[in-house]
Amino acid sequence: MSIQVLSPEVVDQIAAGEVVERPAHLVKELVENSIDAGATRVHVEFFDGGRIVKVIDNGKGMSPEDLPKALDRFATSKISKSDDLWSLKTFGFRGEALASISSVSKMTLTTRREGDEQAFQLVSLYGKKQPIDRVGGSQGTTVLMENLFENMPARLKFLKSDSAEHTAIKTTLKAMALAHHDVEFRIQENSKLVNFWPACKDRKERAEQILEIKPLFVGEASREYVKAYAVFADPHNVAKTAKNIWLFAQNRWVQDRSLQAAVNEAYRSLLMHGEFPIAAVWVETDPEYIDVNIHPTKSQVKFHDPSLAFRAVAGALRGTLEKAPWIQQSGQLRSQAQFAGEKGAVDYSDPAATYPSAKSLPNFAVNAATEKSGVTTQSEMPKENLAFQDSTFKTTQFQKKDFSFPTTSVQQPQMSYQTLAEAAESRQNFEMPPKNDTASATNIEAVAPVSGGYWSSLEVLGQANLTYIVTQHRDKMVFVDQHAAHERVAYEKLMNAWKGGKIDIQDFLFPLAIDMSPEKVEGLLLLAKDIERLGVFIEALGPGTVGVKAAPLFIKESVLGKVLDRMATEVVDQGGSYSLERAVGDICATMACHSVVRAGQALSIDQMKNLLREMDHFPLSSFCPHGRPVSVEYPFYKLEKDFGRIV
Ligand code: ADP
Ligand code: MG
Repeated sequence: MSIQVLSPEVVDQIAAGEVVERPAHLVKELVENSIDAGATRVHVEFFDGGRIVKVIDNGKGMSPEDLPKALDRFATSKISKSDDLWSLKTFGFRGEALASISSVSKMTLTTRREGDEQAFQLVSLYGKKQPIDRVGGSQGTTVLMENLFENMPARLKFLKSDSAEHTAIKTTLKAMALAHHDVEFRIQENSKLVNFWPACKDRKERAEQILEIKPLFVGEASREYVKAYAVFADPHNVAKTAKNIWLFAQNRWVQDRSLQAAVNEAYRSLLMHGEFPIAAVWVETDPEYIDVNIHPTKSQVKFHDPSLAFRAVAGALRGTLEKAPWIQQSGQLRSQAQFAGEKGAVDYSDPAATYPSAKSLPNFAVNAATEKSGVTTQSEMPKENLAFQDSTFKTTQFQKKDFSFPTTSVQQPQMSYQTLAEAAESRQNFEMPPKNDTASATNIEAVAPVSGGYWSSLEVLGQANLTYIVTQHRDKMVFVDQHAAHERVAYEKLMNAWKGGKIDIQDFLFPLAIDMSPEKVEGLLLLAKDIERLGVFIEALGPGTVGVKAAPLFIKESVLGKVLDRMATEVVDQGGSYSLERAVGDICATMACHSVVRAGQALSIDQMKNLLREMDHFPLSSFCPHGRPVSVEYPFYKLEKDFGRIV
């Protein structure tokens, strides 16, 4: 076949494949057009797996002269020169969407400007424009798209099931609504109203509406010319996938792995494996520092300096997360939010609101393995800890009294209380871990209470199952996992010691050689000076080998290799020095886990009180560094219900 120039129809159809790969994409384009036209109300209807879509807005409309031009390729009213790309105020700018969509569907555009006596209507059949009609209609624009891909059966085959396409459309509309809190959205699926989101006063209110979680928390941070604003759920409210991380750059909904990593980074140590944050994050920068035109669907952006965006996002979330504002909420919030799981849509003010059964309280049930052997297990500990622990720690025999609860419809928590006398007795045959340099940072020491501290205010009643500190507080019992609590304290102490430079450094006679890719070696060497601040001194031993000349005494060599490799991976992936913080955090989490009290260790009332006081000295103290909760609550009213005092 000889070379020929493709006809405009074919060109449009090819382009349509990029812009409107799926109905959800074209819905996004149409809604963005409405927003660009200044609409305050957008009404979206879709049917038939998105093969029929109607978007109605109350925006400024188009003149009858502009109407046919709107369907021309590369025809736009939004930019005129390429420089405009760097000072965009609109979502559209490529002038492609209507051309593309109309080339693969039947499109009816109806529009009326303010002051015009009538509306004008243009029908296009697979790109062929029909004559303009005068019709009745109110101010704004209505785009009706039907018969999507009917002229391209091959594309039609690529559409997923109706329900999958509908879900994608609804997700897109949620993102659009998150980005435009001041716009009212009304959404109909197969003629049924599925969502109505009235205009909101701010992003937080809109996010609460869309994510169906209340309250959400807000954080902000700037790094040079990049600003980030985040609205997010407390770490008890989690999702099973990363789909609940909504990212916006210049208020455009974007998919961005680095920003997503930044959100996860901020929640690091607050979530368990397989748990994902629920958060919406907006990143804003001067238009000249961001390229929004790197993808036909505009779903990706390129920051001039991605590490600034990363740090701004992580900072925005972290700043608020560290204050753990949810702890100050009413006593039941925390426990219920935790039970409510992904949805979290519980009315916290109503004590009669759906109260999950004790089944959902993993910490209440006595560990099955523990029951059998009568010895505590550290099943949650990473394998490598065991050797260390075996030589240093002793586990104690359980001494327990089982209280059997009457069986009711709700599965009862099985608790074994240890009386104080028993605790004292078992303490005698328990050896405290030997004191050494690092352990001194982690022993439970007597500390002054922080006035008004939550943890200090808990009244210690005793120790259950040699694992949980049993306390009461106002209207509830609070069970504190002693290992998790101590781990958090030890972790923060190590972090502080490290930051304050109070650690012992060991010089290696021969540098420790660690192999990694030349690219990673290069990345690490660039950071050599920073890494030295962590007490790790490195040099190049070869293109694919880093030598460690000195390192903090308490980091095991095997851990060191892993940590450096991980840092290098991040440096290569993300650039910037944020990874240092993470590296230190990882090391400290591992070290903390090695050196603190275990489940199965008897503690005196004073030791327990001290531990709780220490918790108040550190931010973020409601989770252990591995993300497990530190405490679980059991409201008295629930107890009363269980005892049949109230129904
Ligand atoms: P772009 O949005 O990139 O300019 P489109 O193909 O999406 O390209 O739209 C082409 C033009 O049609 C826009 O520049 C705008 O002038 C006009 N237009 C499209 N949709 C609307 C609408 N809902 N209200 C008013 N004008 C619209
Ligand atoms: Mg557009």
